Amino acid sequence: MNFYRDSTWVLEFLESEVEKKGRVSGSLQTIVLSCCKRYKIQTNPKHIYAIVSSCWKYKPYLEKIMKKSGILTAIPNKKGKPAYSRLTLLLLCHDLLLSKSKRIQMGKHPIKEYVLKYRTTLKGELVKLKVKMKVSDLSQLVDTTESGDDITPVRWIRINPLRIHNNDTSIVLKELLKKFPNKVNSWKDVIPGSIYFDEFIPNLYGIHPSDKITSHELYKQGKIIIQDRASCFPAHILNPSSDDIVIDACSAPGNKTTHVAAHIYGSTPDSRSDTVQIYAFEKDPERAKILQKMIKTAGCSRNIEINVGDFTTLAKPEQFKNVTGFILDPSCSGSGIFGRKTIDALNNQKDSNTEEVPEEDDNTDEVKDEQLQERLNKLASFQFQIVKHAMSFPDANKIVYSTCSIHSEENEKVVIDLLLDKKVKEWGWRVAPREKSIPTWSRRGFKDEFKEVFTDKTDEECQALADGCIRALPKEDGGIGFFAVCFER
Ligand code: SAM
Repeated sequence: MNFYRDSTWVLEFLESEVEKKGRVSGSLQTIVLSCCKRYKIQTNPKHIYAIVSSCWKYKPYLEKIMKKSGILTAIPNKKGKPAYSRLTLLLLCHDLLLSKSKRIQMGKHPIKEYVLKYRTTLKGELVKLKVKMKVSDLSQLVDTTESGDDITPVRWIRINPLRIHNNDTSIVLKELLKKFPNKVNSWKDVIPGSIYFDEFIPNLYGIHPSDKITSHELYKQGKIIIQDRASCFPAHILNPSSDDIVIDACSAPGNKTTHVAAHIYGSTPDSRSDTVQIYAFEKDPERAKILQKMIKTAGCSRNIEINVGDFTTLAKPEQFKNVTGFILDPSCSGSGIFGRKTIDALNNQKDSNTEEVPEEDDNTDEVKDEQLQERLNKLASFQFQIVKHAMSFPDANKIVYSTCSIHSEENEKVVIDLLLDKKVKEWGWRVAPREKSIPTWSRRGFKDEFKEVFTDKTDEECQALADGCIRALPKEDGGIGFFAVCFER
């Protein structure tokens, strides 16, 4: 029983991390080891790691099976509380259904007897789930090469109007529906072979990550682009029209640049002009090559001018007097990304769109915290500078700033520093209200960050600033962790 009790503590810790931070930071191995130290666990950490990592990977499926079996609703009470913990039951069910031996590793015990009472129902629900998901084994649904932390719950695909005759996206949708005939109403219900029509971003669809899409002709022809949902927010919020001129200041590999192009040129029929209305800046020459390739695949080479170099020194405001809008998606800590490897591998991109994240080491937590803080401060200062430079362009009236970070240092705090800046105030920039930044998206910025600094503002005013910001939690919100805010004047 100690083995399951100790493993329960580790699972409880993992759940609380997700609750607090929206993700588990660090490798599972390191977490198990530090939990074993913290809770003075006697069980062999290797055994705990084996069950916890597998259980964590299959958790969403095990939870579905357990819910359907009714095992969670009939737990006997002890002193007014459930006698068995939900997570201990999860571990037992895991071993009964998914371990090699299909046995619960303990002698006679009431909790074991309780789970065994449900053995037939649980096994039946497992079979039903496999049939529903069209797999012979649940391992086909999870990432077996990694810990499972590196896979998106949904693969998001965007239809690219620029590669379609007359920009008619319905032709491609018809093709997609042949491959994914089952339409589901929530991304959480996506299973192999099904498709979800996103409610926030037009032309965006969710499919199951195990469904192979990169070998499909639509993908090869650039008619669909794999792009995380939250990463589509900036171009959607900027919403440039055919009259706008846009700079994407940090553009490689080009997901947002091509999405901006879809907005500007997507509504004009195929005879669209060769005018350049998008200027893409990219500091890294190698990544600029990837950007060029992506723009070519997306069919918008003639409408985008690529400038290789540092946006803050290369782009002079007086040379771009007519620029109206900006996409500003600078390098960040990447703390919201879990599936970068997967997405980049699929898009055949080079893996460096975030600042380098050091490997895990054996440093103490305090040293790590200090290093992280220092790194975040450096990033925040660079992020502030680059947005401020964009704000100095004379005709710009909309700037969408975004990161794939969950840290407020790179998000709300950068917004605050900008709002406090004398020049930024002089130029007349403010945070655009919620109504202009996907109002139906419920997760917004952190109000307390604004309250702490703007002591002269009312609670409502701070709430309005927080509401102007969008946050997405990794996995929980269907993809990467993300932050976006729109400045306007
Ligand atoms: N917006 C891109 C997309 O959606 O595909 C991802 C951008 S990535 C987060 C940040 C990019 O900014 C990196 O390619 C990095 O090399 C580039 N970058 C960083 N600092 C820059 C600067 N000062 N000027 C131009 N590009 C910069």
